[in-house]
Amino acid sequence: MADMAHISGLVAAGVVPSPFEHCHVVSTTTHKTLRGCRAGMIFYRKGLQGGPHNHAIAGVAVALKQAMTPEFRVYQHQVVANCRVLAETLMELGYKVVTGGSDNHLILVDLRSKGTDGGRAEKVLEACSIACNKNTCPGDRSALRPSGLRLGTPALTSRGLLEKEFQKVAHFIHRGIELTLQIQSDVGVKATLKEFKEKLAGDEKHRRAIRALREEVESFASLFPLPGLPDF
Ligand SMILES: *Cc1c(COP(=O)(O)O)cnc(C)c1O
Repeated sequence: MADMAHISGLVAAGVVPSPFEHCHVVSTTTHKTLRGCRAGMIFYRKGLQGGPHNHAIAGVAVALKQAMTPEFRVYQHQVVANCRVLAETLMELGYKVVTGGSDNHLILVDLRSKGTDGGRAEKVLEACSIACNKNTCPGDRSALRPSGLRLGTPALTSRGLLEKEFQKVAHFIHRGIELTLQIQSDVGVKATLKEFKEKLAGDEKHRRAIRALREEVESFASLFPLPGLPDF
């Protein structure tokens, strides 16, 4: 059995090896790299499944139809190419990428060497309109203070960003992490995440810096159309 939730779009496009060669049962979500609505699928040789949601099945069918197109293959190759550039640019800026690069759609940045962690960086980046996840890294002793930041390229690639724009994205992330370090040095390295968040929300100097970065991020993002919304 294989759960290919993260990589099913890459599998469909033939960008990574397929589990179907080896498995009797394959499961996947449809809302990650497969880029469909939130749902799941279980592939098996024979059997029956109950409780159908017909609207969700229609949504999955649309995603699977798209996954059969040449455009989808081009898209998935671009997802990987963009992720490589994101990893390389962050490494050039002095960051440690856990896998030393990327062959798929995501990377995990270990922030220990920078002197901060995923929870704090996530909060600052979120305030700058950059979505990401905190995530544990190999060697972390507690899941309560994860050292890493998980970053992926499928969504921005859907909006048409190419390699050179991902260099810019990496620099935006870098600036967000630099702000995280400034806030941290202000509030003290021993401060709790709660105290850090209070500083982030309450200190006018930091709020100004965050607002300035957020405005730059949003005006950059507004150059790329969002599916389902009219172009502006
Ligand atoms: C994301 C994921 C799931 C489903 O989780 P959701 O919270 O529904 O998105 C299942 N298995 C794996 C391996 C996943 O990565």
